[in-house]
Amino acid sequence: MSTLKFTDPEHWKGIERHLGQPGGSGASSDASSSASSGERFAFAYTRTISNAGTGPVLEVVETVLVDELDTTRGVDGWYLSDRALDSIHNHALTTGYGIVEFHNHHHGPPAFSATDEDALAPTVVYCLELLGGTPYGAAVWADGALHAEWWRVNRHGRVERGQFTTVTVLGDQFRVLNARPAAEERLARQLPLLGTRAQAAIATMRVAVVGVGGTGSQLAQGLACLGFRNVLLMDDDLVEISNLNRMVTAGYADVGQPKTAVTRKRMRAIDPLINVATAGAVTVAAEHPELEDVDLIIGCVDNDGPRNRINQIATRTRTPYLDIATGVDETVEPFALGGRVILTAPHGPCLTCLGELDAAEIARWAKPPDQQQLDRLHGYGTGTANPSVVYLNGLAVNAALTELAAWLSGARPPAQWLDVDVIGDLGRPGTQIDPREVAGPNPGCITCAGGHRWRESLHPVLGAR
Ligand SMILES: [Zn+2]
Ligand SMILES: [Zn+2]
Repeated sequence: MSTLKFTDPEHWKGIERHLGQPGGSGASSDASSSASSGERFAFAYTRTISNAGTGPVLEVVETVLVDELDTTRGVDGWYLSDRALDSIHNHALTTGYGIVEFHNHHHGPPAFSATDEDALAPTVVYCLELLGGTPYGAAVWADGALHAEWWRVNRHGRVERGQFTTVTVLGDQFRVLNARPAAEERLARQLPLLGTRAQAAIATMRVAVVGVGGTGSQLAQGLACLGFRNVLLMDDDLVEISNLNRMVTAGYADVGQPKTAVTRKRMRAIDPLINVATAGAVTVAAEHPELEDVDLIIGCVDNDGPRNRINQIATRTRTPYLDIATGVDETVEPFALGGRVILTAPHGPCLTCLGELDAAEIARWAKPPDQQQLDRLHGYGTGTANPSVVYLNGLAVNAALTELAAWLSGARPPAQWLDVDVIGDLGRPGTQIDPREVAGPNPGCITCAGGHRWRESLHPVLGAR
């Protein structure tokens, strides 16, 4: 698996516009004149988020659009001038960034031509050597879709090559540029709502769900219904009888079984082609490499300890994080019953910025078990079972899925924060789901430093994670 992410949508918009223009000798892109249509080139400079596992995870941090004057036509294809290439390679060398090359074809589906392969072979070897371990990428854009591949030198000094699993653009719309179409009868009734592009994105992107209890089970079931095909479920817990009032993927026969396995079974019943991986819960000390190469993390946890860890990982890996919380507050009169959904994305405020993480709760969660026991004796984090009810989980989960669908379809930008209030008040009886205005990132934030924590490690550790 591997990812190329445009965390600034303007970077991709610039490339898309540049590649979409008629190029070369002023030819149009219609079929009759394709022979004289020029190809256009653009480059993205990338920061390496991770280069372990099965493929690199790269973030685009700068782009350069190649002028037509630097593009010339050879006997069998289009070439870039040495002057342009030198300047691109030198910039990468001095910044420590990686390089991904983009060019367009006038007809899809996008794929490298024989000429492209001939030109790539020496370029890749040269760049991998020059850039000392930073992965190299190349992509073809045609008919509104992208084909993108990466190369890197592996531990044994051999060149590895693979396709980017996803190439994503995170803006008002969440786009998956290399999504593969998913047209199935099962999904026919929702296609008019989502559109084929969003349905393809749903089928291609990878989602991690942390916490598979009352909230996470409904969410996971919803993901399977919507056509998500690549899901990771993270939880350690076994199903208990007291979960059955809200864990929609479990029944009596599942008591004692892992929540992840029980939920995976339900998801496979909905979609036999779905890939569901499972892993243990988020912990204080673990690195959680399984969360480094996903396109979206959805948090369904009931404690700010793991919530804080997910927030840190999402910030570091530039991964959007959709956090769902539900709860009851019996200390107020009338007691409060509700929840909230928050979507954080790179360049925006994180959960710490938003003041949504309780430092005392995080500190208690991080303590060793014997000290947690001591805390309980003193009345902290007593772990008494909070009241929970299926319709509250369902409201919060479906509000979150609604925002996710809006984001993927581009129908409208998603809400960054939704409050769910079930009890309401006497002045406004009835269930309320309200978007809340959210301030920008906090420049002094200890987690994201105002959305720019990554700048501190501008120079990637070459060849390492
Ligand atoms: Zn080409
Ligand atoms: Zn922050």
